[in-house]
Amino acid sequence: MKRTIRDYDLNNKKVIIRVDFNVPMKDGQIEDDTRIRASLKTIRYAIDHQAKVILLSHLGKVKEESDLIKNDLYPVSVRLGKLLNKTVHFSHKTRGSELEDLISSMHSGDVLLIQNTRYEDLEMKRESNCDKELASYWASLGDIFINDAYGTCHREHASNVGIAKILPNGIGFLVEEEIKKLDSIMHEDTKPFIVIMGGAKVHDKMKVIENLGNLCDKLLIGGGMSYTFLKAKGFNVGNSLIDEDGISFCKEMLEKYPDKIVLPIDHAVALSQSDKNSKIVKIENTLENEIGFDIGPETIDLFCDYLKDAKRVIINGPMGLFENPLYQNGTKAIYDYITSHQIKTLVGGGDSASSVNKLSDSSKFYHISTGGGATLEYLEGKILPGIKVIHEK
Ligand code: ADP
Ligand code: MG
Repeated sequence: MKRTIRDYDLNNKKVIIRVDFNVPMKDGQIEDDTRIRASLKTIRYAIDHQAKVILLSHLGKVKEESDLIKNDLYPVSVRLGKLLNKTVHFSHKTRGSELEDLISSMHSGDVLLIQNTRYEDLEMKRESNCDKELASYWASLGDIFINDAYGTCHREHASNVGIAKILPNGIGFLVEEEIKKLDSIMHEDTKPFIVIMGGAKVHDKMKVIENLGNLCDKLLIGGGMSYTFLKAKGFNVGNSLIDEDGISFCKEMLEKYPDKIVLPIDHAVALSQSDKNSKIVKIENTLENEIGFDIGPETIDLFCDYLKDAKRVIINGPMGLFENPLYQNGTKAIYDYITSHQIKTLVGGGDSASSVNKLSDSSKFYHISTGGGATLEYLEGKILPGIKVIHEK
């Protein structure tokens, strides 16, 4: 078990919390503050326990001078102040006397946000290359380090791994919740364990397919990804999405897990996305010029039949092109079945999470994981560097 923020006496301590404030911004305006809200629990806990709260986060990428203004974290400090209903101080610089003076004038319960950690990437990519001198400098500003930026846990940067190597450390509530739920769903001893994969490309997900394929009892594959598997099996799938580079991998998986992998038997096809005359056909009846955009009703029944007794489910990737109302049926039907049967289900992946929010009731799921890349690497079976570096209890 990893040490958490609860394992420390925070009273009057300078607590550096690495948060994920990498919010979508347009012309200096925050478009969606979900990530700021998600960090409030840990920040409030630190304030309530009389810490001097020093926050670090990245925002976007900083490669050239013009990225500095675009990715200025100042607007985030204003929004955070509103959400916390208290003053949030802001250091416009990532190091130097302005920052050090602000810290030395802090009282217990004060909050300070430091400028975008990736400002340090402008020269020599110090943040992203986990520069030791930079990590030591930031560590010198605090007494305790807490990592609550789950979305960057798969990265080894100065502001998450670098500082953690130097200071007494722990994880925040957000990271704790993510790893607890991911661990439980992947390794709990209940069966059947069903994995549903979909989405676009096989190539991006090969390691996830390999790892989860090994752990699960059935691997149900729908969405764009299924066509590369179907083609590897010898089906003609018309003009459906194919990942040529992934065919040999799919063949390998089909040979390794012939009884585990379940593929669609019918689908919704059309001649293009804008073609309004979509129809349901069996996979083997697909014509050369047709494109599959969603799983069909027989496939939905087949998949739900496997879900009937499921004790644990992981979903990564939607069952169809859910952004188009014509092709939401398959994805929605699977979510409806899961929520109405209260099956313990974890959803990972950026588009999968947005499909749940769009088509279902996210509160009825066991967990909707917030980290795109971090969650995928977790599902691949990797130990995330941002978590690995944290002390065990
Ligand atoms: P996640 O972000 O959850 O990991 P992916 O990025 O792998 O998921 O895939 C999501 C995308 O896959 C969505 O934009 C969806 O429209 C697309 N998709 C799903 N099924 C199909 C299909 N049959 N043809 C083309 N695109 C599809
Ligand atoms: Mg995606």
